[in-house]
Amino acid sequence: MGLTIGVDIGGTKVLGGVVDSAGDVLVQTRRDTPAQDPGETADRIIEVIRELSAGQQVEAVGIGAAGWVDETRSIVQFAPNLAWRNEPLRDKIQQAVGLPTVVENDGNVAAWAEFRFGAAHDADDSMVLYTVGTGIGGGIILGGRLIRGAHGVAGELGHTMMVPDGHPCGCGRHGCLEQYTSGNALVRFARADARTRPEAAERLLQLAGGDPDAIKGPAVTEAARLGDPVATGAFEQVGHWLGVAFADIVQTLDPQVIVVGGGVIDAGDLLLKPARASYEEQLAQRGRLPVAEVRPALMGNLAGVVGAADLARM
Ligand SMILES: [Zn+2]
Repeated sequence: MGLTIGVDIGGTKVLGGVVDSAGDVLVQTRRDTPAQDPGETADRIIEVIRELSAGQQVEAVGIGAAGWVDETRSIVQFAPNLAWRNEPLRDKIQQAVGLPTVVENDGNVAAWAEFRFGAAHDADDSMVLYTVGTGIGGGIILGGRLIRGAHGVAGELGHTMMVPDGHPCGCGRHGCLEQYTSGNALVRFARADARTRPEAAERLLQLAGGDPDAIKGPAVTEAARLGDPVATGAFEQVGHWLGVAFADIVQTLDPQVIVVGGGVIDAGDLLLKPARASYEEQLAQRGRLPVAEVRPALMGNLAGVVGAADLARM
């Protein structure tokens, strides 16, 4: 198969690209997402596909959406940040653009992109992706195949319970991983600690205009780079829980590689160093058996486009 189109639908933007079989994006375009209107969101996707396919020999379309996509890759059952409820997105788009179309979960498309062309391109069997953004997403590859699960919801790694009776989560449970490892968790930890010991959070508070409640993610990263102990401590907590999650997934799946993506990975070793340390400490088989290497994602903000386009080929 030659060229395919990948479309990545986020809460704020629709990003599309024409992708070749080597995973290279030849052309790309974007639109804002009218998040509250499912009909308009579909129109925007159709616009993007029509623009990209004009004058190109495109063979199929893959769409990555933040939400639960059913196992037939056609219906978005629920999307937390978009207005879709049981939206028959595949048929709608396919009919409008006249190209074979598939819909996939955003974590799954990003995982596929890293496995095929990114941080785990040398792995031939298995990989697990954790995307650490506002929340936690992920995807699982086993035996060279993307694992969608019986009902399409495999790889929802953010909602495994880390802390019994812990912090309440938007999903209705308490103590989910994404309440301890995510951009939101990072900010929550930093704010709480800055309130308790403002004298240690001098740099961080400067960046937030002196108000602990005004602390945002980028300020935590900046202050941590400057050595602010409260900001560094927030990364250590988030990294600790991420490492615990790695050790758990290794016990379950024993993948070749664990990849960490999402916005928070821009902080690099501030996140990865404590994550690797607690991963090592938590492993039951530490020092006795080889285990998955932890690597930062490489595909950046094109992961969704490239992964969706490649999954449209199969
Ligand atoms: Zn949850």
